[in-house]
Amino acid sequence: MELRNGKYYVQDLLVEGLGTKYDLPLFVYDADIITRQYNMLKDAFSVKNLTLNYACKALTNISILRHLRNLGAGLDAVSIGEVKIALQAGFLPRQIVFTPSSVSIKEYQEAVDLGVRINIDNLETLSYFGEHMPDLPVCVRINPHIMAGGNKKISVGHIDSKFGISIHQIDKITEIRTRYKMQIEGVHMHTGSDILNVQVFLQATDILFHAAAEFPDLSYIDFGSGFKVKYKPDDVETDIAIFGQEMSNKFNTFCSEIGRELELMFEPGKFLVSESGYFLAKTNVIKRTPSNVFVGLDSGFNHLIRPMFYDSYHGVLNISNPGGPEKIYSLVGYICETDTFAWNRPVPEVSVGDIIAFKNAGAYCYMMSSNYNTRCRPPEVLIHNGQDYLIREREQHEDLIRLQPDPQFT
Ligand SMILES: *Cc1c(COP(=O)(O)O)cnc(C)c1O
Repeated sequence: MELRNGKYYVQDLLVEGLGTKYDLPLFVYDADIITRQYNMLKDAFSVKNLTLNYACKALTNISILRHLRNLGAGLDAVSIGEVKIALQAGFLPRQIVFTPSSVSIKEYQEAVDLGVRINIDNLETLSYFGEHMPDLPVCVRINPHIMAGGNKKISVGHIDSKFGISIHQIDKITEIRTRYKMQIEGVHMHTGSDILNVQVFLQATDILFHAAAEFPDLSYIDFGSGFKVKYKPDDVETDIAIFGQEMSNKFNTFCSEIGRELELMFEPGKFLVSESGYFLAKTNVIKRTPSNVFVGLDSGFNHLIRPMFYDSYHGVLNISNPGGPEKIYSLVGYICETDTFAWNRPVPEVSVGDIIAFKNAGAYCYMMSSNYNTRCRPPEVLIHNGQDYLIREREQHEDLIRLQPDPQFT
């Protein structure tokens, strides 16, 4: 979003105009930002075979998936639903890695039948695959037990984490592999959602290389994600250029050591889509109390739960009054529970009816929205090559009751 002559634009479209056309609340995504992020990440690495699998749980709209496929991305799916929508968006089965945690054998089987790559995160399931499908090459998810930084709720690489097969159980993987003559085609790790410290992450990669050397049939190594984007102006970002260079050196060295060209994979989610998204909502009320001035919005954590769920910070813009004098506000929602978008933020003076935009609303925002308080979810609009496209309709009350048979007890 850009401020030009006192008005906010996404590409060349006036944000206020989008609010009028589609009504509010509304999610708006800028495809150019996704393209920029994808290319920035791709260009940071210098290896022969690089694949960026978009971790689509961040934002699974089919039009977003198509855009990323057109850019050349593969896809990381954590559920059979994500596998299906990725296939509908035109990804080939071999471009999709199915990386679930704690799913049923039935769900794995469905993914196998659809032909996607399977990433196994526990020894029991690995044995099952060995026993029933010994010829199917699989990937194993390794937990290197490294904290790459970040929020406790989103960090998944530590020793108590439920994710992956412990690095201390590599010999067990080898035992199962040899017993069933399985092919381990890939090793994977995903240490969590914030690579704050590149050096810590690189240590984890050494651990994974060490493990990878155990598997003679290996064709790819997948280092997951954790690429951080800025939410606050003073946030630390992963230095992608430095990371890419160091990682490429390590990877190329490893490939020459084992004498084979492997494929290097990553699975960025929020890095690709977070900054592309804005959540727009209208101001219903300005409420002054002895201690605070609240901006009461026509939305709530049913639409944007990250601040309440993760204490996450989303930058705030007043689309209707960008040049106004800054005042301190707390922005709250209409859910009948504590429902805060942002505390004590300087925002250009807000009046009733003003459109407020929350930044970084591309990743884990629409996807975590709900119908709590019996409210409908907002529409999604994608701006692509200067055109606005409705990519998800606004939910209607009928949608909420459609699945309720209503037996009408007397
Ligand atoms: C969620 C997830 C990702 C993406 O994480 P981001 O922090 O959004 O980049 C990647 N891989 C796996 C296995 C995941 O579960």
